Amino acid sequence: MNLRTKVPLLAISILLSTTLVSGVILLFMLRVNMESEAKLRAKTFLDALAVSATEDLATGRIDSLDRMVTTLTDYDLEQLDVRFVQVLSPERRVIAHSKQFYYGRVADDEFSIEAVNADEPILRDAYQNKERILMVSRPLVTQIDDLPGIRWGTLTTALGLDRLQRMMAHSLIGIITGVVLASILSAALLISLLNTQLIKPLDNLTEAAASYGHGNLGTRAKIYGKDEISMLATTFNQMADTVENHTRNLEFQILERTHELQSANKLLADLNERLNELAITDGLTGLFNFRQFQDTIRKELVRAKRLRIPFSLLAMDVDFFKQFNDTYGHPSGDIALKKLASVMKERLRESDILCRIGGEEFSAILPGTWHEAAIGLAQELRMSLEKSELINEAGQKIPGITISIGVATFPDHADNVSDLINAADSALYLAKQRGRNQVASAANISKIQG
Ligand code: GH3
Ligand code: MG
Ligand code: MG
Repeated sequence: MNLRTKVPLLAISILLSTTLVSGVILLFMLRVNMESEAKLRAKTFLDALAVSATEDLATGRIDSLDRMVTTLTDYDLEQLDVRFVQVLSPERRVIAHSKQFYYGRVADDEFSIEAVNADEPILRDAYQNKERILMVSRPLVTQIDDLPGIRWGTLTTALGLDRLQRMMAHSLIGIITGVVLASILSAALLISLLNTQLIKPLDNLTEAAASYGHGNLGTRAKIYGKDEISMLATTFNQMADTVENHTRNLEFQILERTHELQSANKLLADLNERLNELAITDGLTGLFNFRQFQDTIRKELVRAKRLRIPFSLLAMDVDFFKQFNDTYGHPSGDIALKKLASVMKERLRESDILCRIGGEEFSAILPGTWHEAAIGLAQELRMSLEKSELINEAGQKIPGITISIGVATFPDHADNVSDLINAADSALYLAKQRGRNQVASAANISKIQG
């Protein structure tokens, strides 16, 4: 059972029990009060009668007494009905009675006997035909100064309490209705008060805590007033602020670290790429190195075989380079090598692979190129280099270099890598032999060998 059910139930039960107890007490007090009021009225009634009754008895005016008594039936004594009034002689004989029928009889009922023998007024409860009756008696005594009085007789009356009881029943219904209405009203008031002051703020706090627990860090509890629950809600909000700030800080730090890590990773990747590049690149010319040449030519052969396409290989060597170095200096030799690389790269296609495989030795792999085309290209390269100008490190113009080129083609001159390289080398050797600065074909070697 939740608080929303428990609290109103508790409130209603407390309220009901208190109203019930107070209702019962009220009823009891009302009853006591009414009964004592009835008794007082009865006594006063008899006291009032006693004066003239005593006088009539003392003076023997029985008829006057009788008249007075007969008029008393149906006398309304505010909720008390006078059932009968009678005057008894000391011998219990009926001297006067509100009902003519009893005159002269000896009253032998218990109350009459007790009343005649008593010196004081008597009050007794009795039942007659299921009706509650109040029996009251009063001695009729003449008192002169301090002398002992003369007892003339006894006045007794029976008063019906029916109307009084009915009135009490009505009062009871009224009280019960009032109590129930008051209970309902108070309960409604109490429930609404508990709802707005206790349950709603608690619900709000619970909801806020649950939402926060599900990760909604922006959730805050509503503050309703300045009571303990509001203080709790304020403390919760402060705690939520602290946790949120802390979390945001952490998130920010994580983001920062992630960025740093990403930068470091990128740096590492760049470095790796650069290292890979360096591993396959020649430092002076920026061309591929010998290792990359070997790798590429092997792959190219496999590819050409699979696709049944040709590819040509140019083996190139600078002419008289030792002499060049000796004449213009080693640095000029380096400049000349760089120039050679740039002139050739400019002329070759993107798909051609130009490599520096030794000091002043170069190779070009030309995928998809037939032998004739390769010879033509080699001539173009040779001539381009021949025409190119050289400026040394001192800014002086110096004579350019020339190259000799040997050309071999797959599948025309070899069907494996080493044979193809050998064929190109042999052609290069031939070009050198023929006087340098020229292109020689592996086809001529075959012819020579053949
Ligand atoms: P040939 O025409 O027969 O090829 O004669 P050559 O002088 O070019 O041949 P040789 O093999 O006798 O000499 C090659 C020279 O290339 C020797 C060396 O000083 C030079 N050389 C090799 N690598 C470099 C380099 O990186 N820079 C410079 N400047 N010279 C180099
Ligand atoms: Mg050489
Ligand atoms: Mg050489």
